Amino acid sequence: MRRVCPKCGSSSLQKHGEVRSEQGILQKLKCMSCKHEWHSQLPEDLFDKVLEMLRTFVWDIEARKPLSEAGWVSLNEDYVKKLRSINFCEIDREGMRGRIDYKNHKSLPGELLSTDEGRIFCEILRSLEIVQEIEALKNNDYEYLKAVVAGLSEMLKNARFSFWEVEEGSIPEKLRSFMLRPRWNVTAERISRSLALNLLKSIWGIDGALKGYGEANDRPIDLDLLRSVTREIEESSQWRKIISFFKSNKDLLEALGLSWYVSRKIIDREIEYLGAKLLAFEAAIKVVAERSGETINSLRERLASLSENLDNLIFEEKWGVNWNDVFRLPY
Ligand SMILES: [Zn+2]
Repeated sequence: MRRVCPKCGSSSLQKHGEVRSEQGILQKLKCMSCKHEWHSQLPEDLFDKVLEMLRTFVWDIEARKPLSEAGWVSLNEDYVKKLRSINFCEIDREGMRGRIDYKNHKSLPGELLSTDEGRIFCEILRSLEIVQEIEALKNNDYEYLKAVVAGLSEMLKNARFSFWEVEEGSIPEKLRSFMLRPRWNVTAERISRSLALNLLKSIWGIDGALKGYGEANDRPIDLDLLRSVTREIEESSQWRKIISFFKSNKDLLEALGLSWYVSRKIIDREIEYLGAKLLAFEAAIKVVAERSGETINSLRERLASLSENLDNLIFEEKWGVNWNDVFRLPY
């Protein structure tokens, strides 16, 4: 038996009686871990068939088959008859194959959703939603850049742990005092946002106002100090070198930004299955490549050699950030 408890996920279940139905014999089950009891909505053989459909859908999508061709499983007459009475399955016109009606996946019973197959199936669907959202950005310059900058701001947050100095005291005093404060994380987030806007202005020539500085609900930060520290970073020679590098490699910065934007969505939508994550990340790279008129492979190769290039930029600095740890893909 491949079933698990829909409440706690335990696979230690006991049969507790049975009822006859149109589709066959339905089990009454009890979870030995949390004592939850329920009537199965599907007989054993149909349950396994549906799991097979869920698996096939996931495999097909991972093999990059289009949605219209994904998830079909061959059926004999007996199964066709039984499956017609289930509202979350569809049968093809010839009556030879069936699949999960993914558009109607909300009707999947809890006992299916709580299996590994059901969970991964739902994550794949959520990931396909992200893919659609990313593809919609392709022809919308404004929304596209907004997403890129949101992603860059997310990415730049990772700089907060990567400051270094050649000799003690090389890091500018004001910045150091910020870093020693207990709320450095919050401050670093503000600085990241500001740096992302600085990139927007320097690389794409769009002057976004430094919005959002005072509007957060948390305790106020010393804004004047924050501005002067941000300016200090923005005017440092390493940041200037980074800007001039990305000016001639805009697509790389867009690929990074959009990937981190996708990464945020993946976290927000609780997608954990690697295959599902990759679908969404792939969509980001594809959109950037298409917009800049290059192949996905060449974009990937250039992203792979990015870290080396950034290393060379900051070779002779006295203090800085490990930018190659920061300007990287989230996966
Ligand atoms: Zn349980």
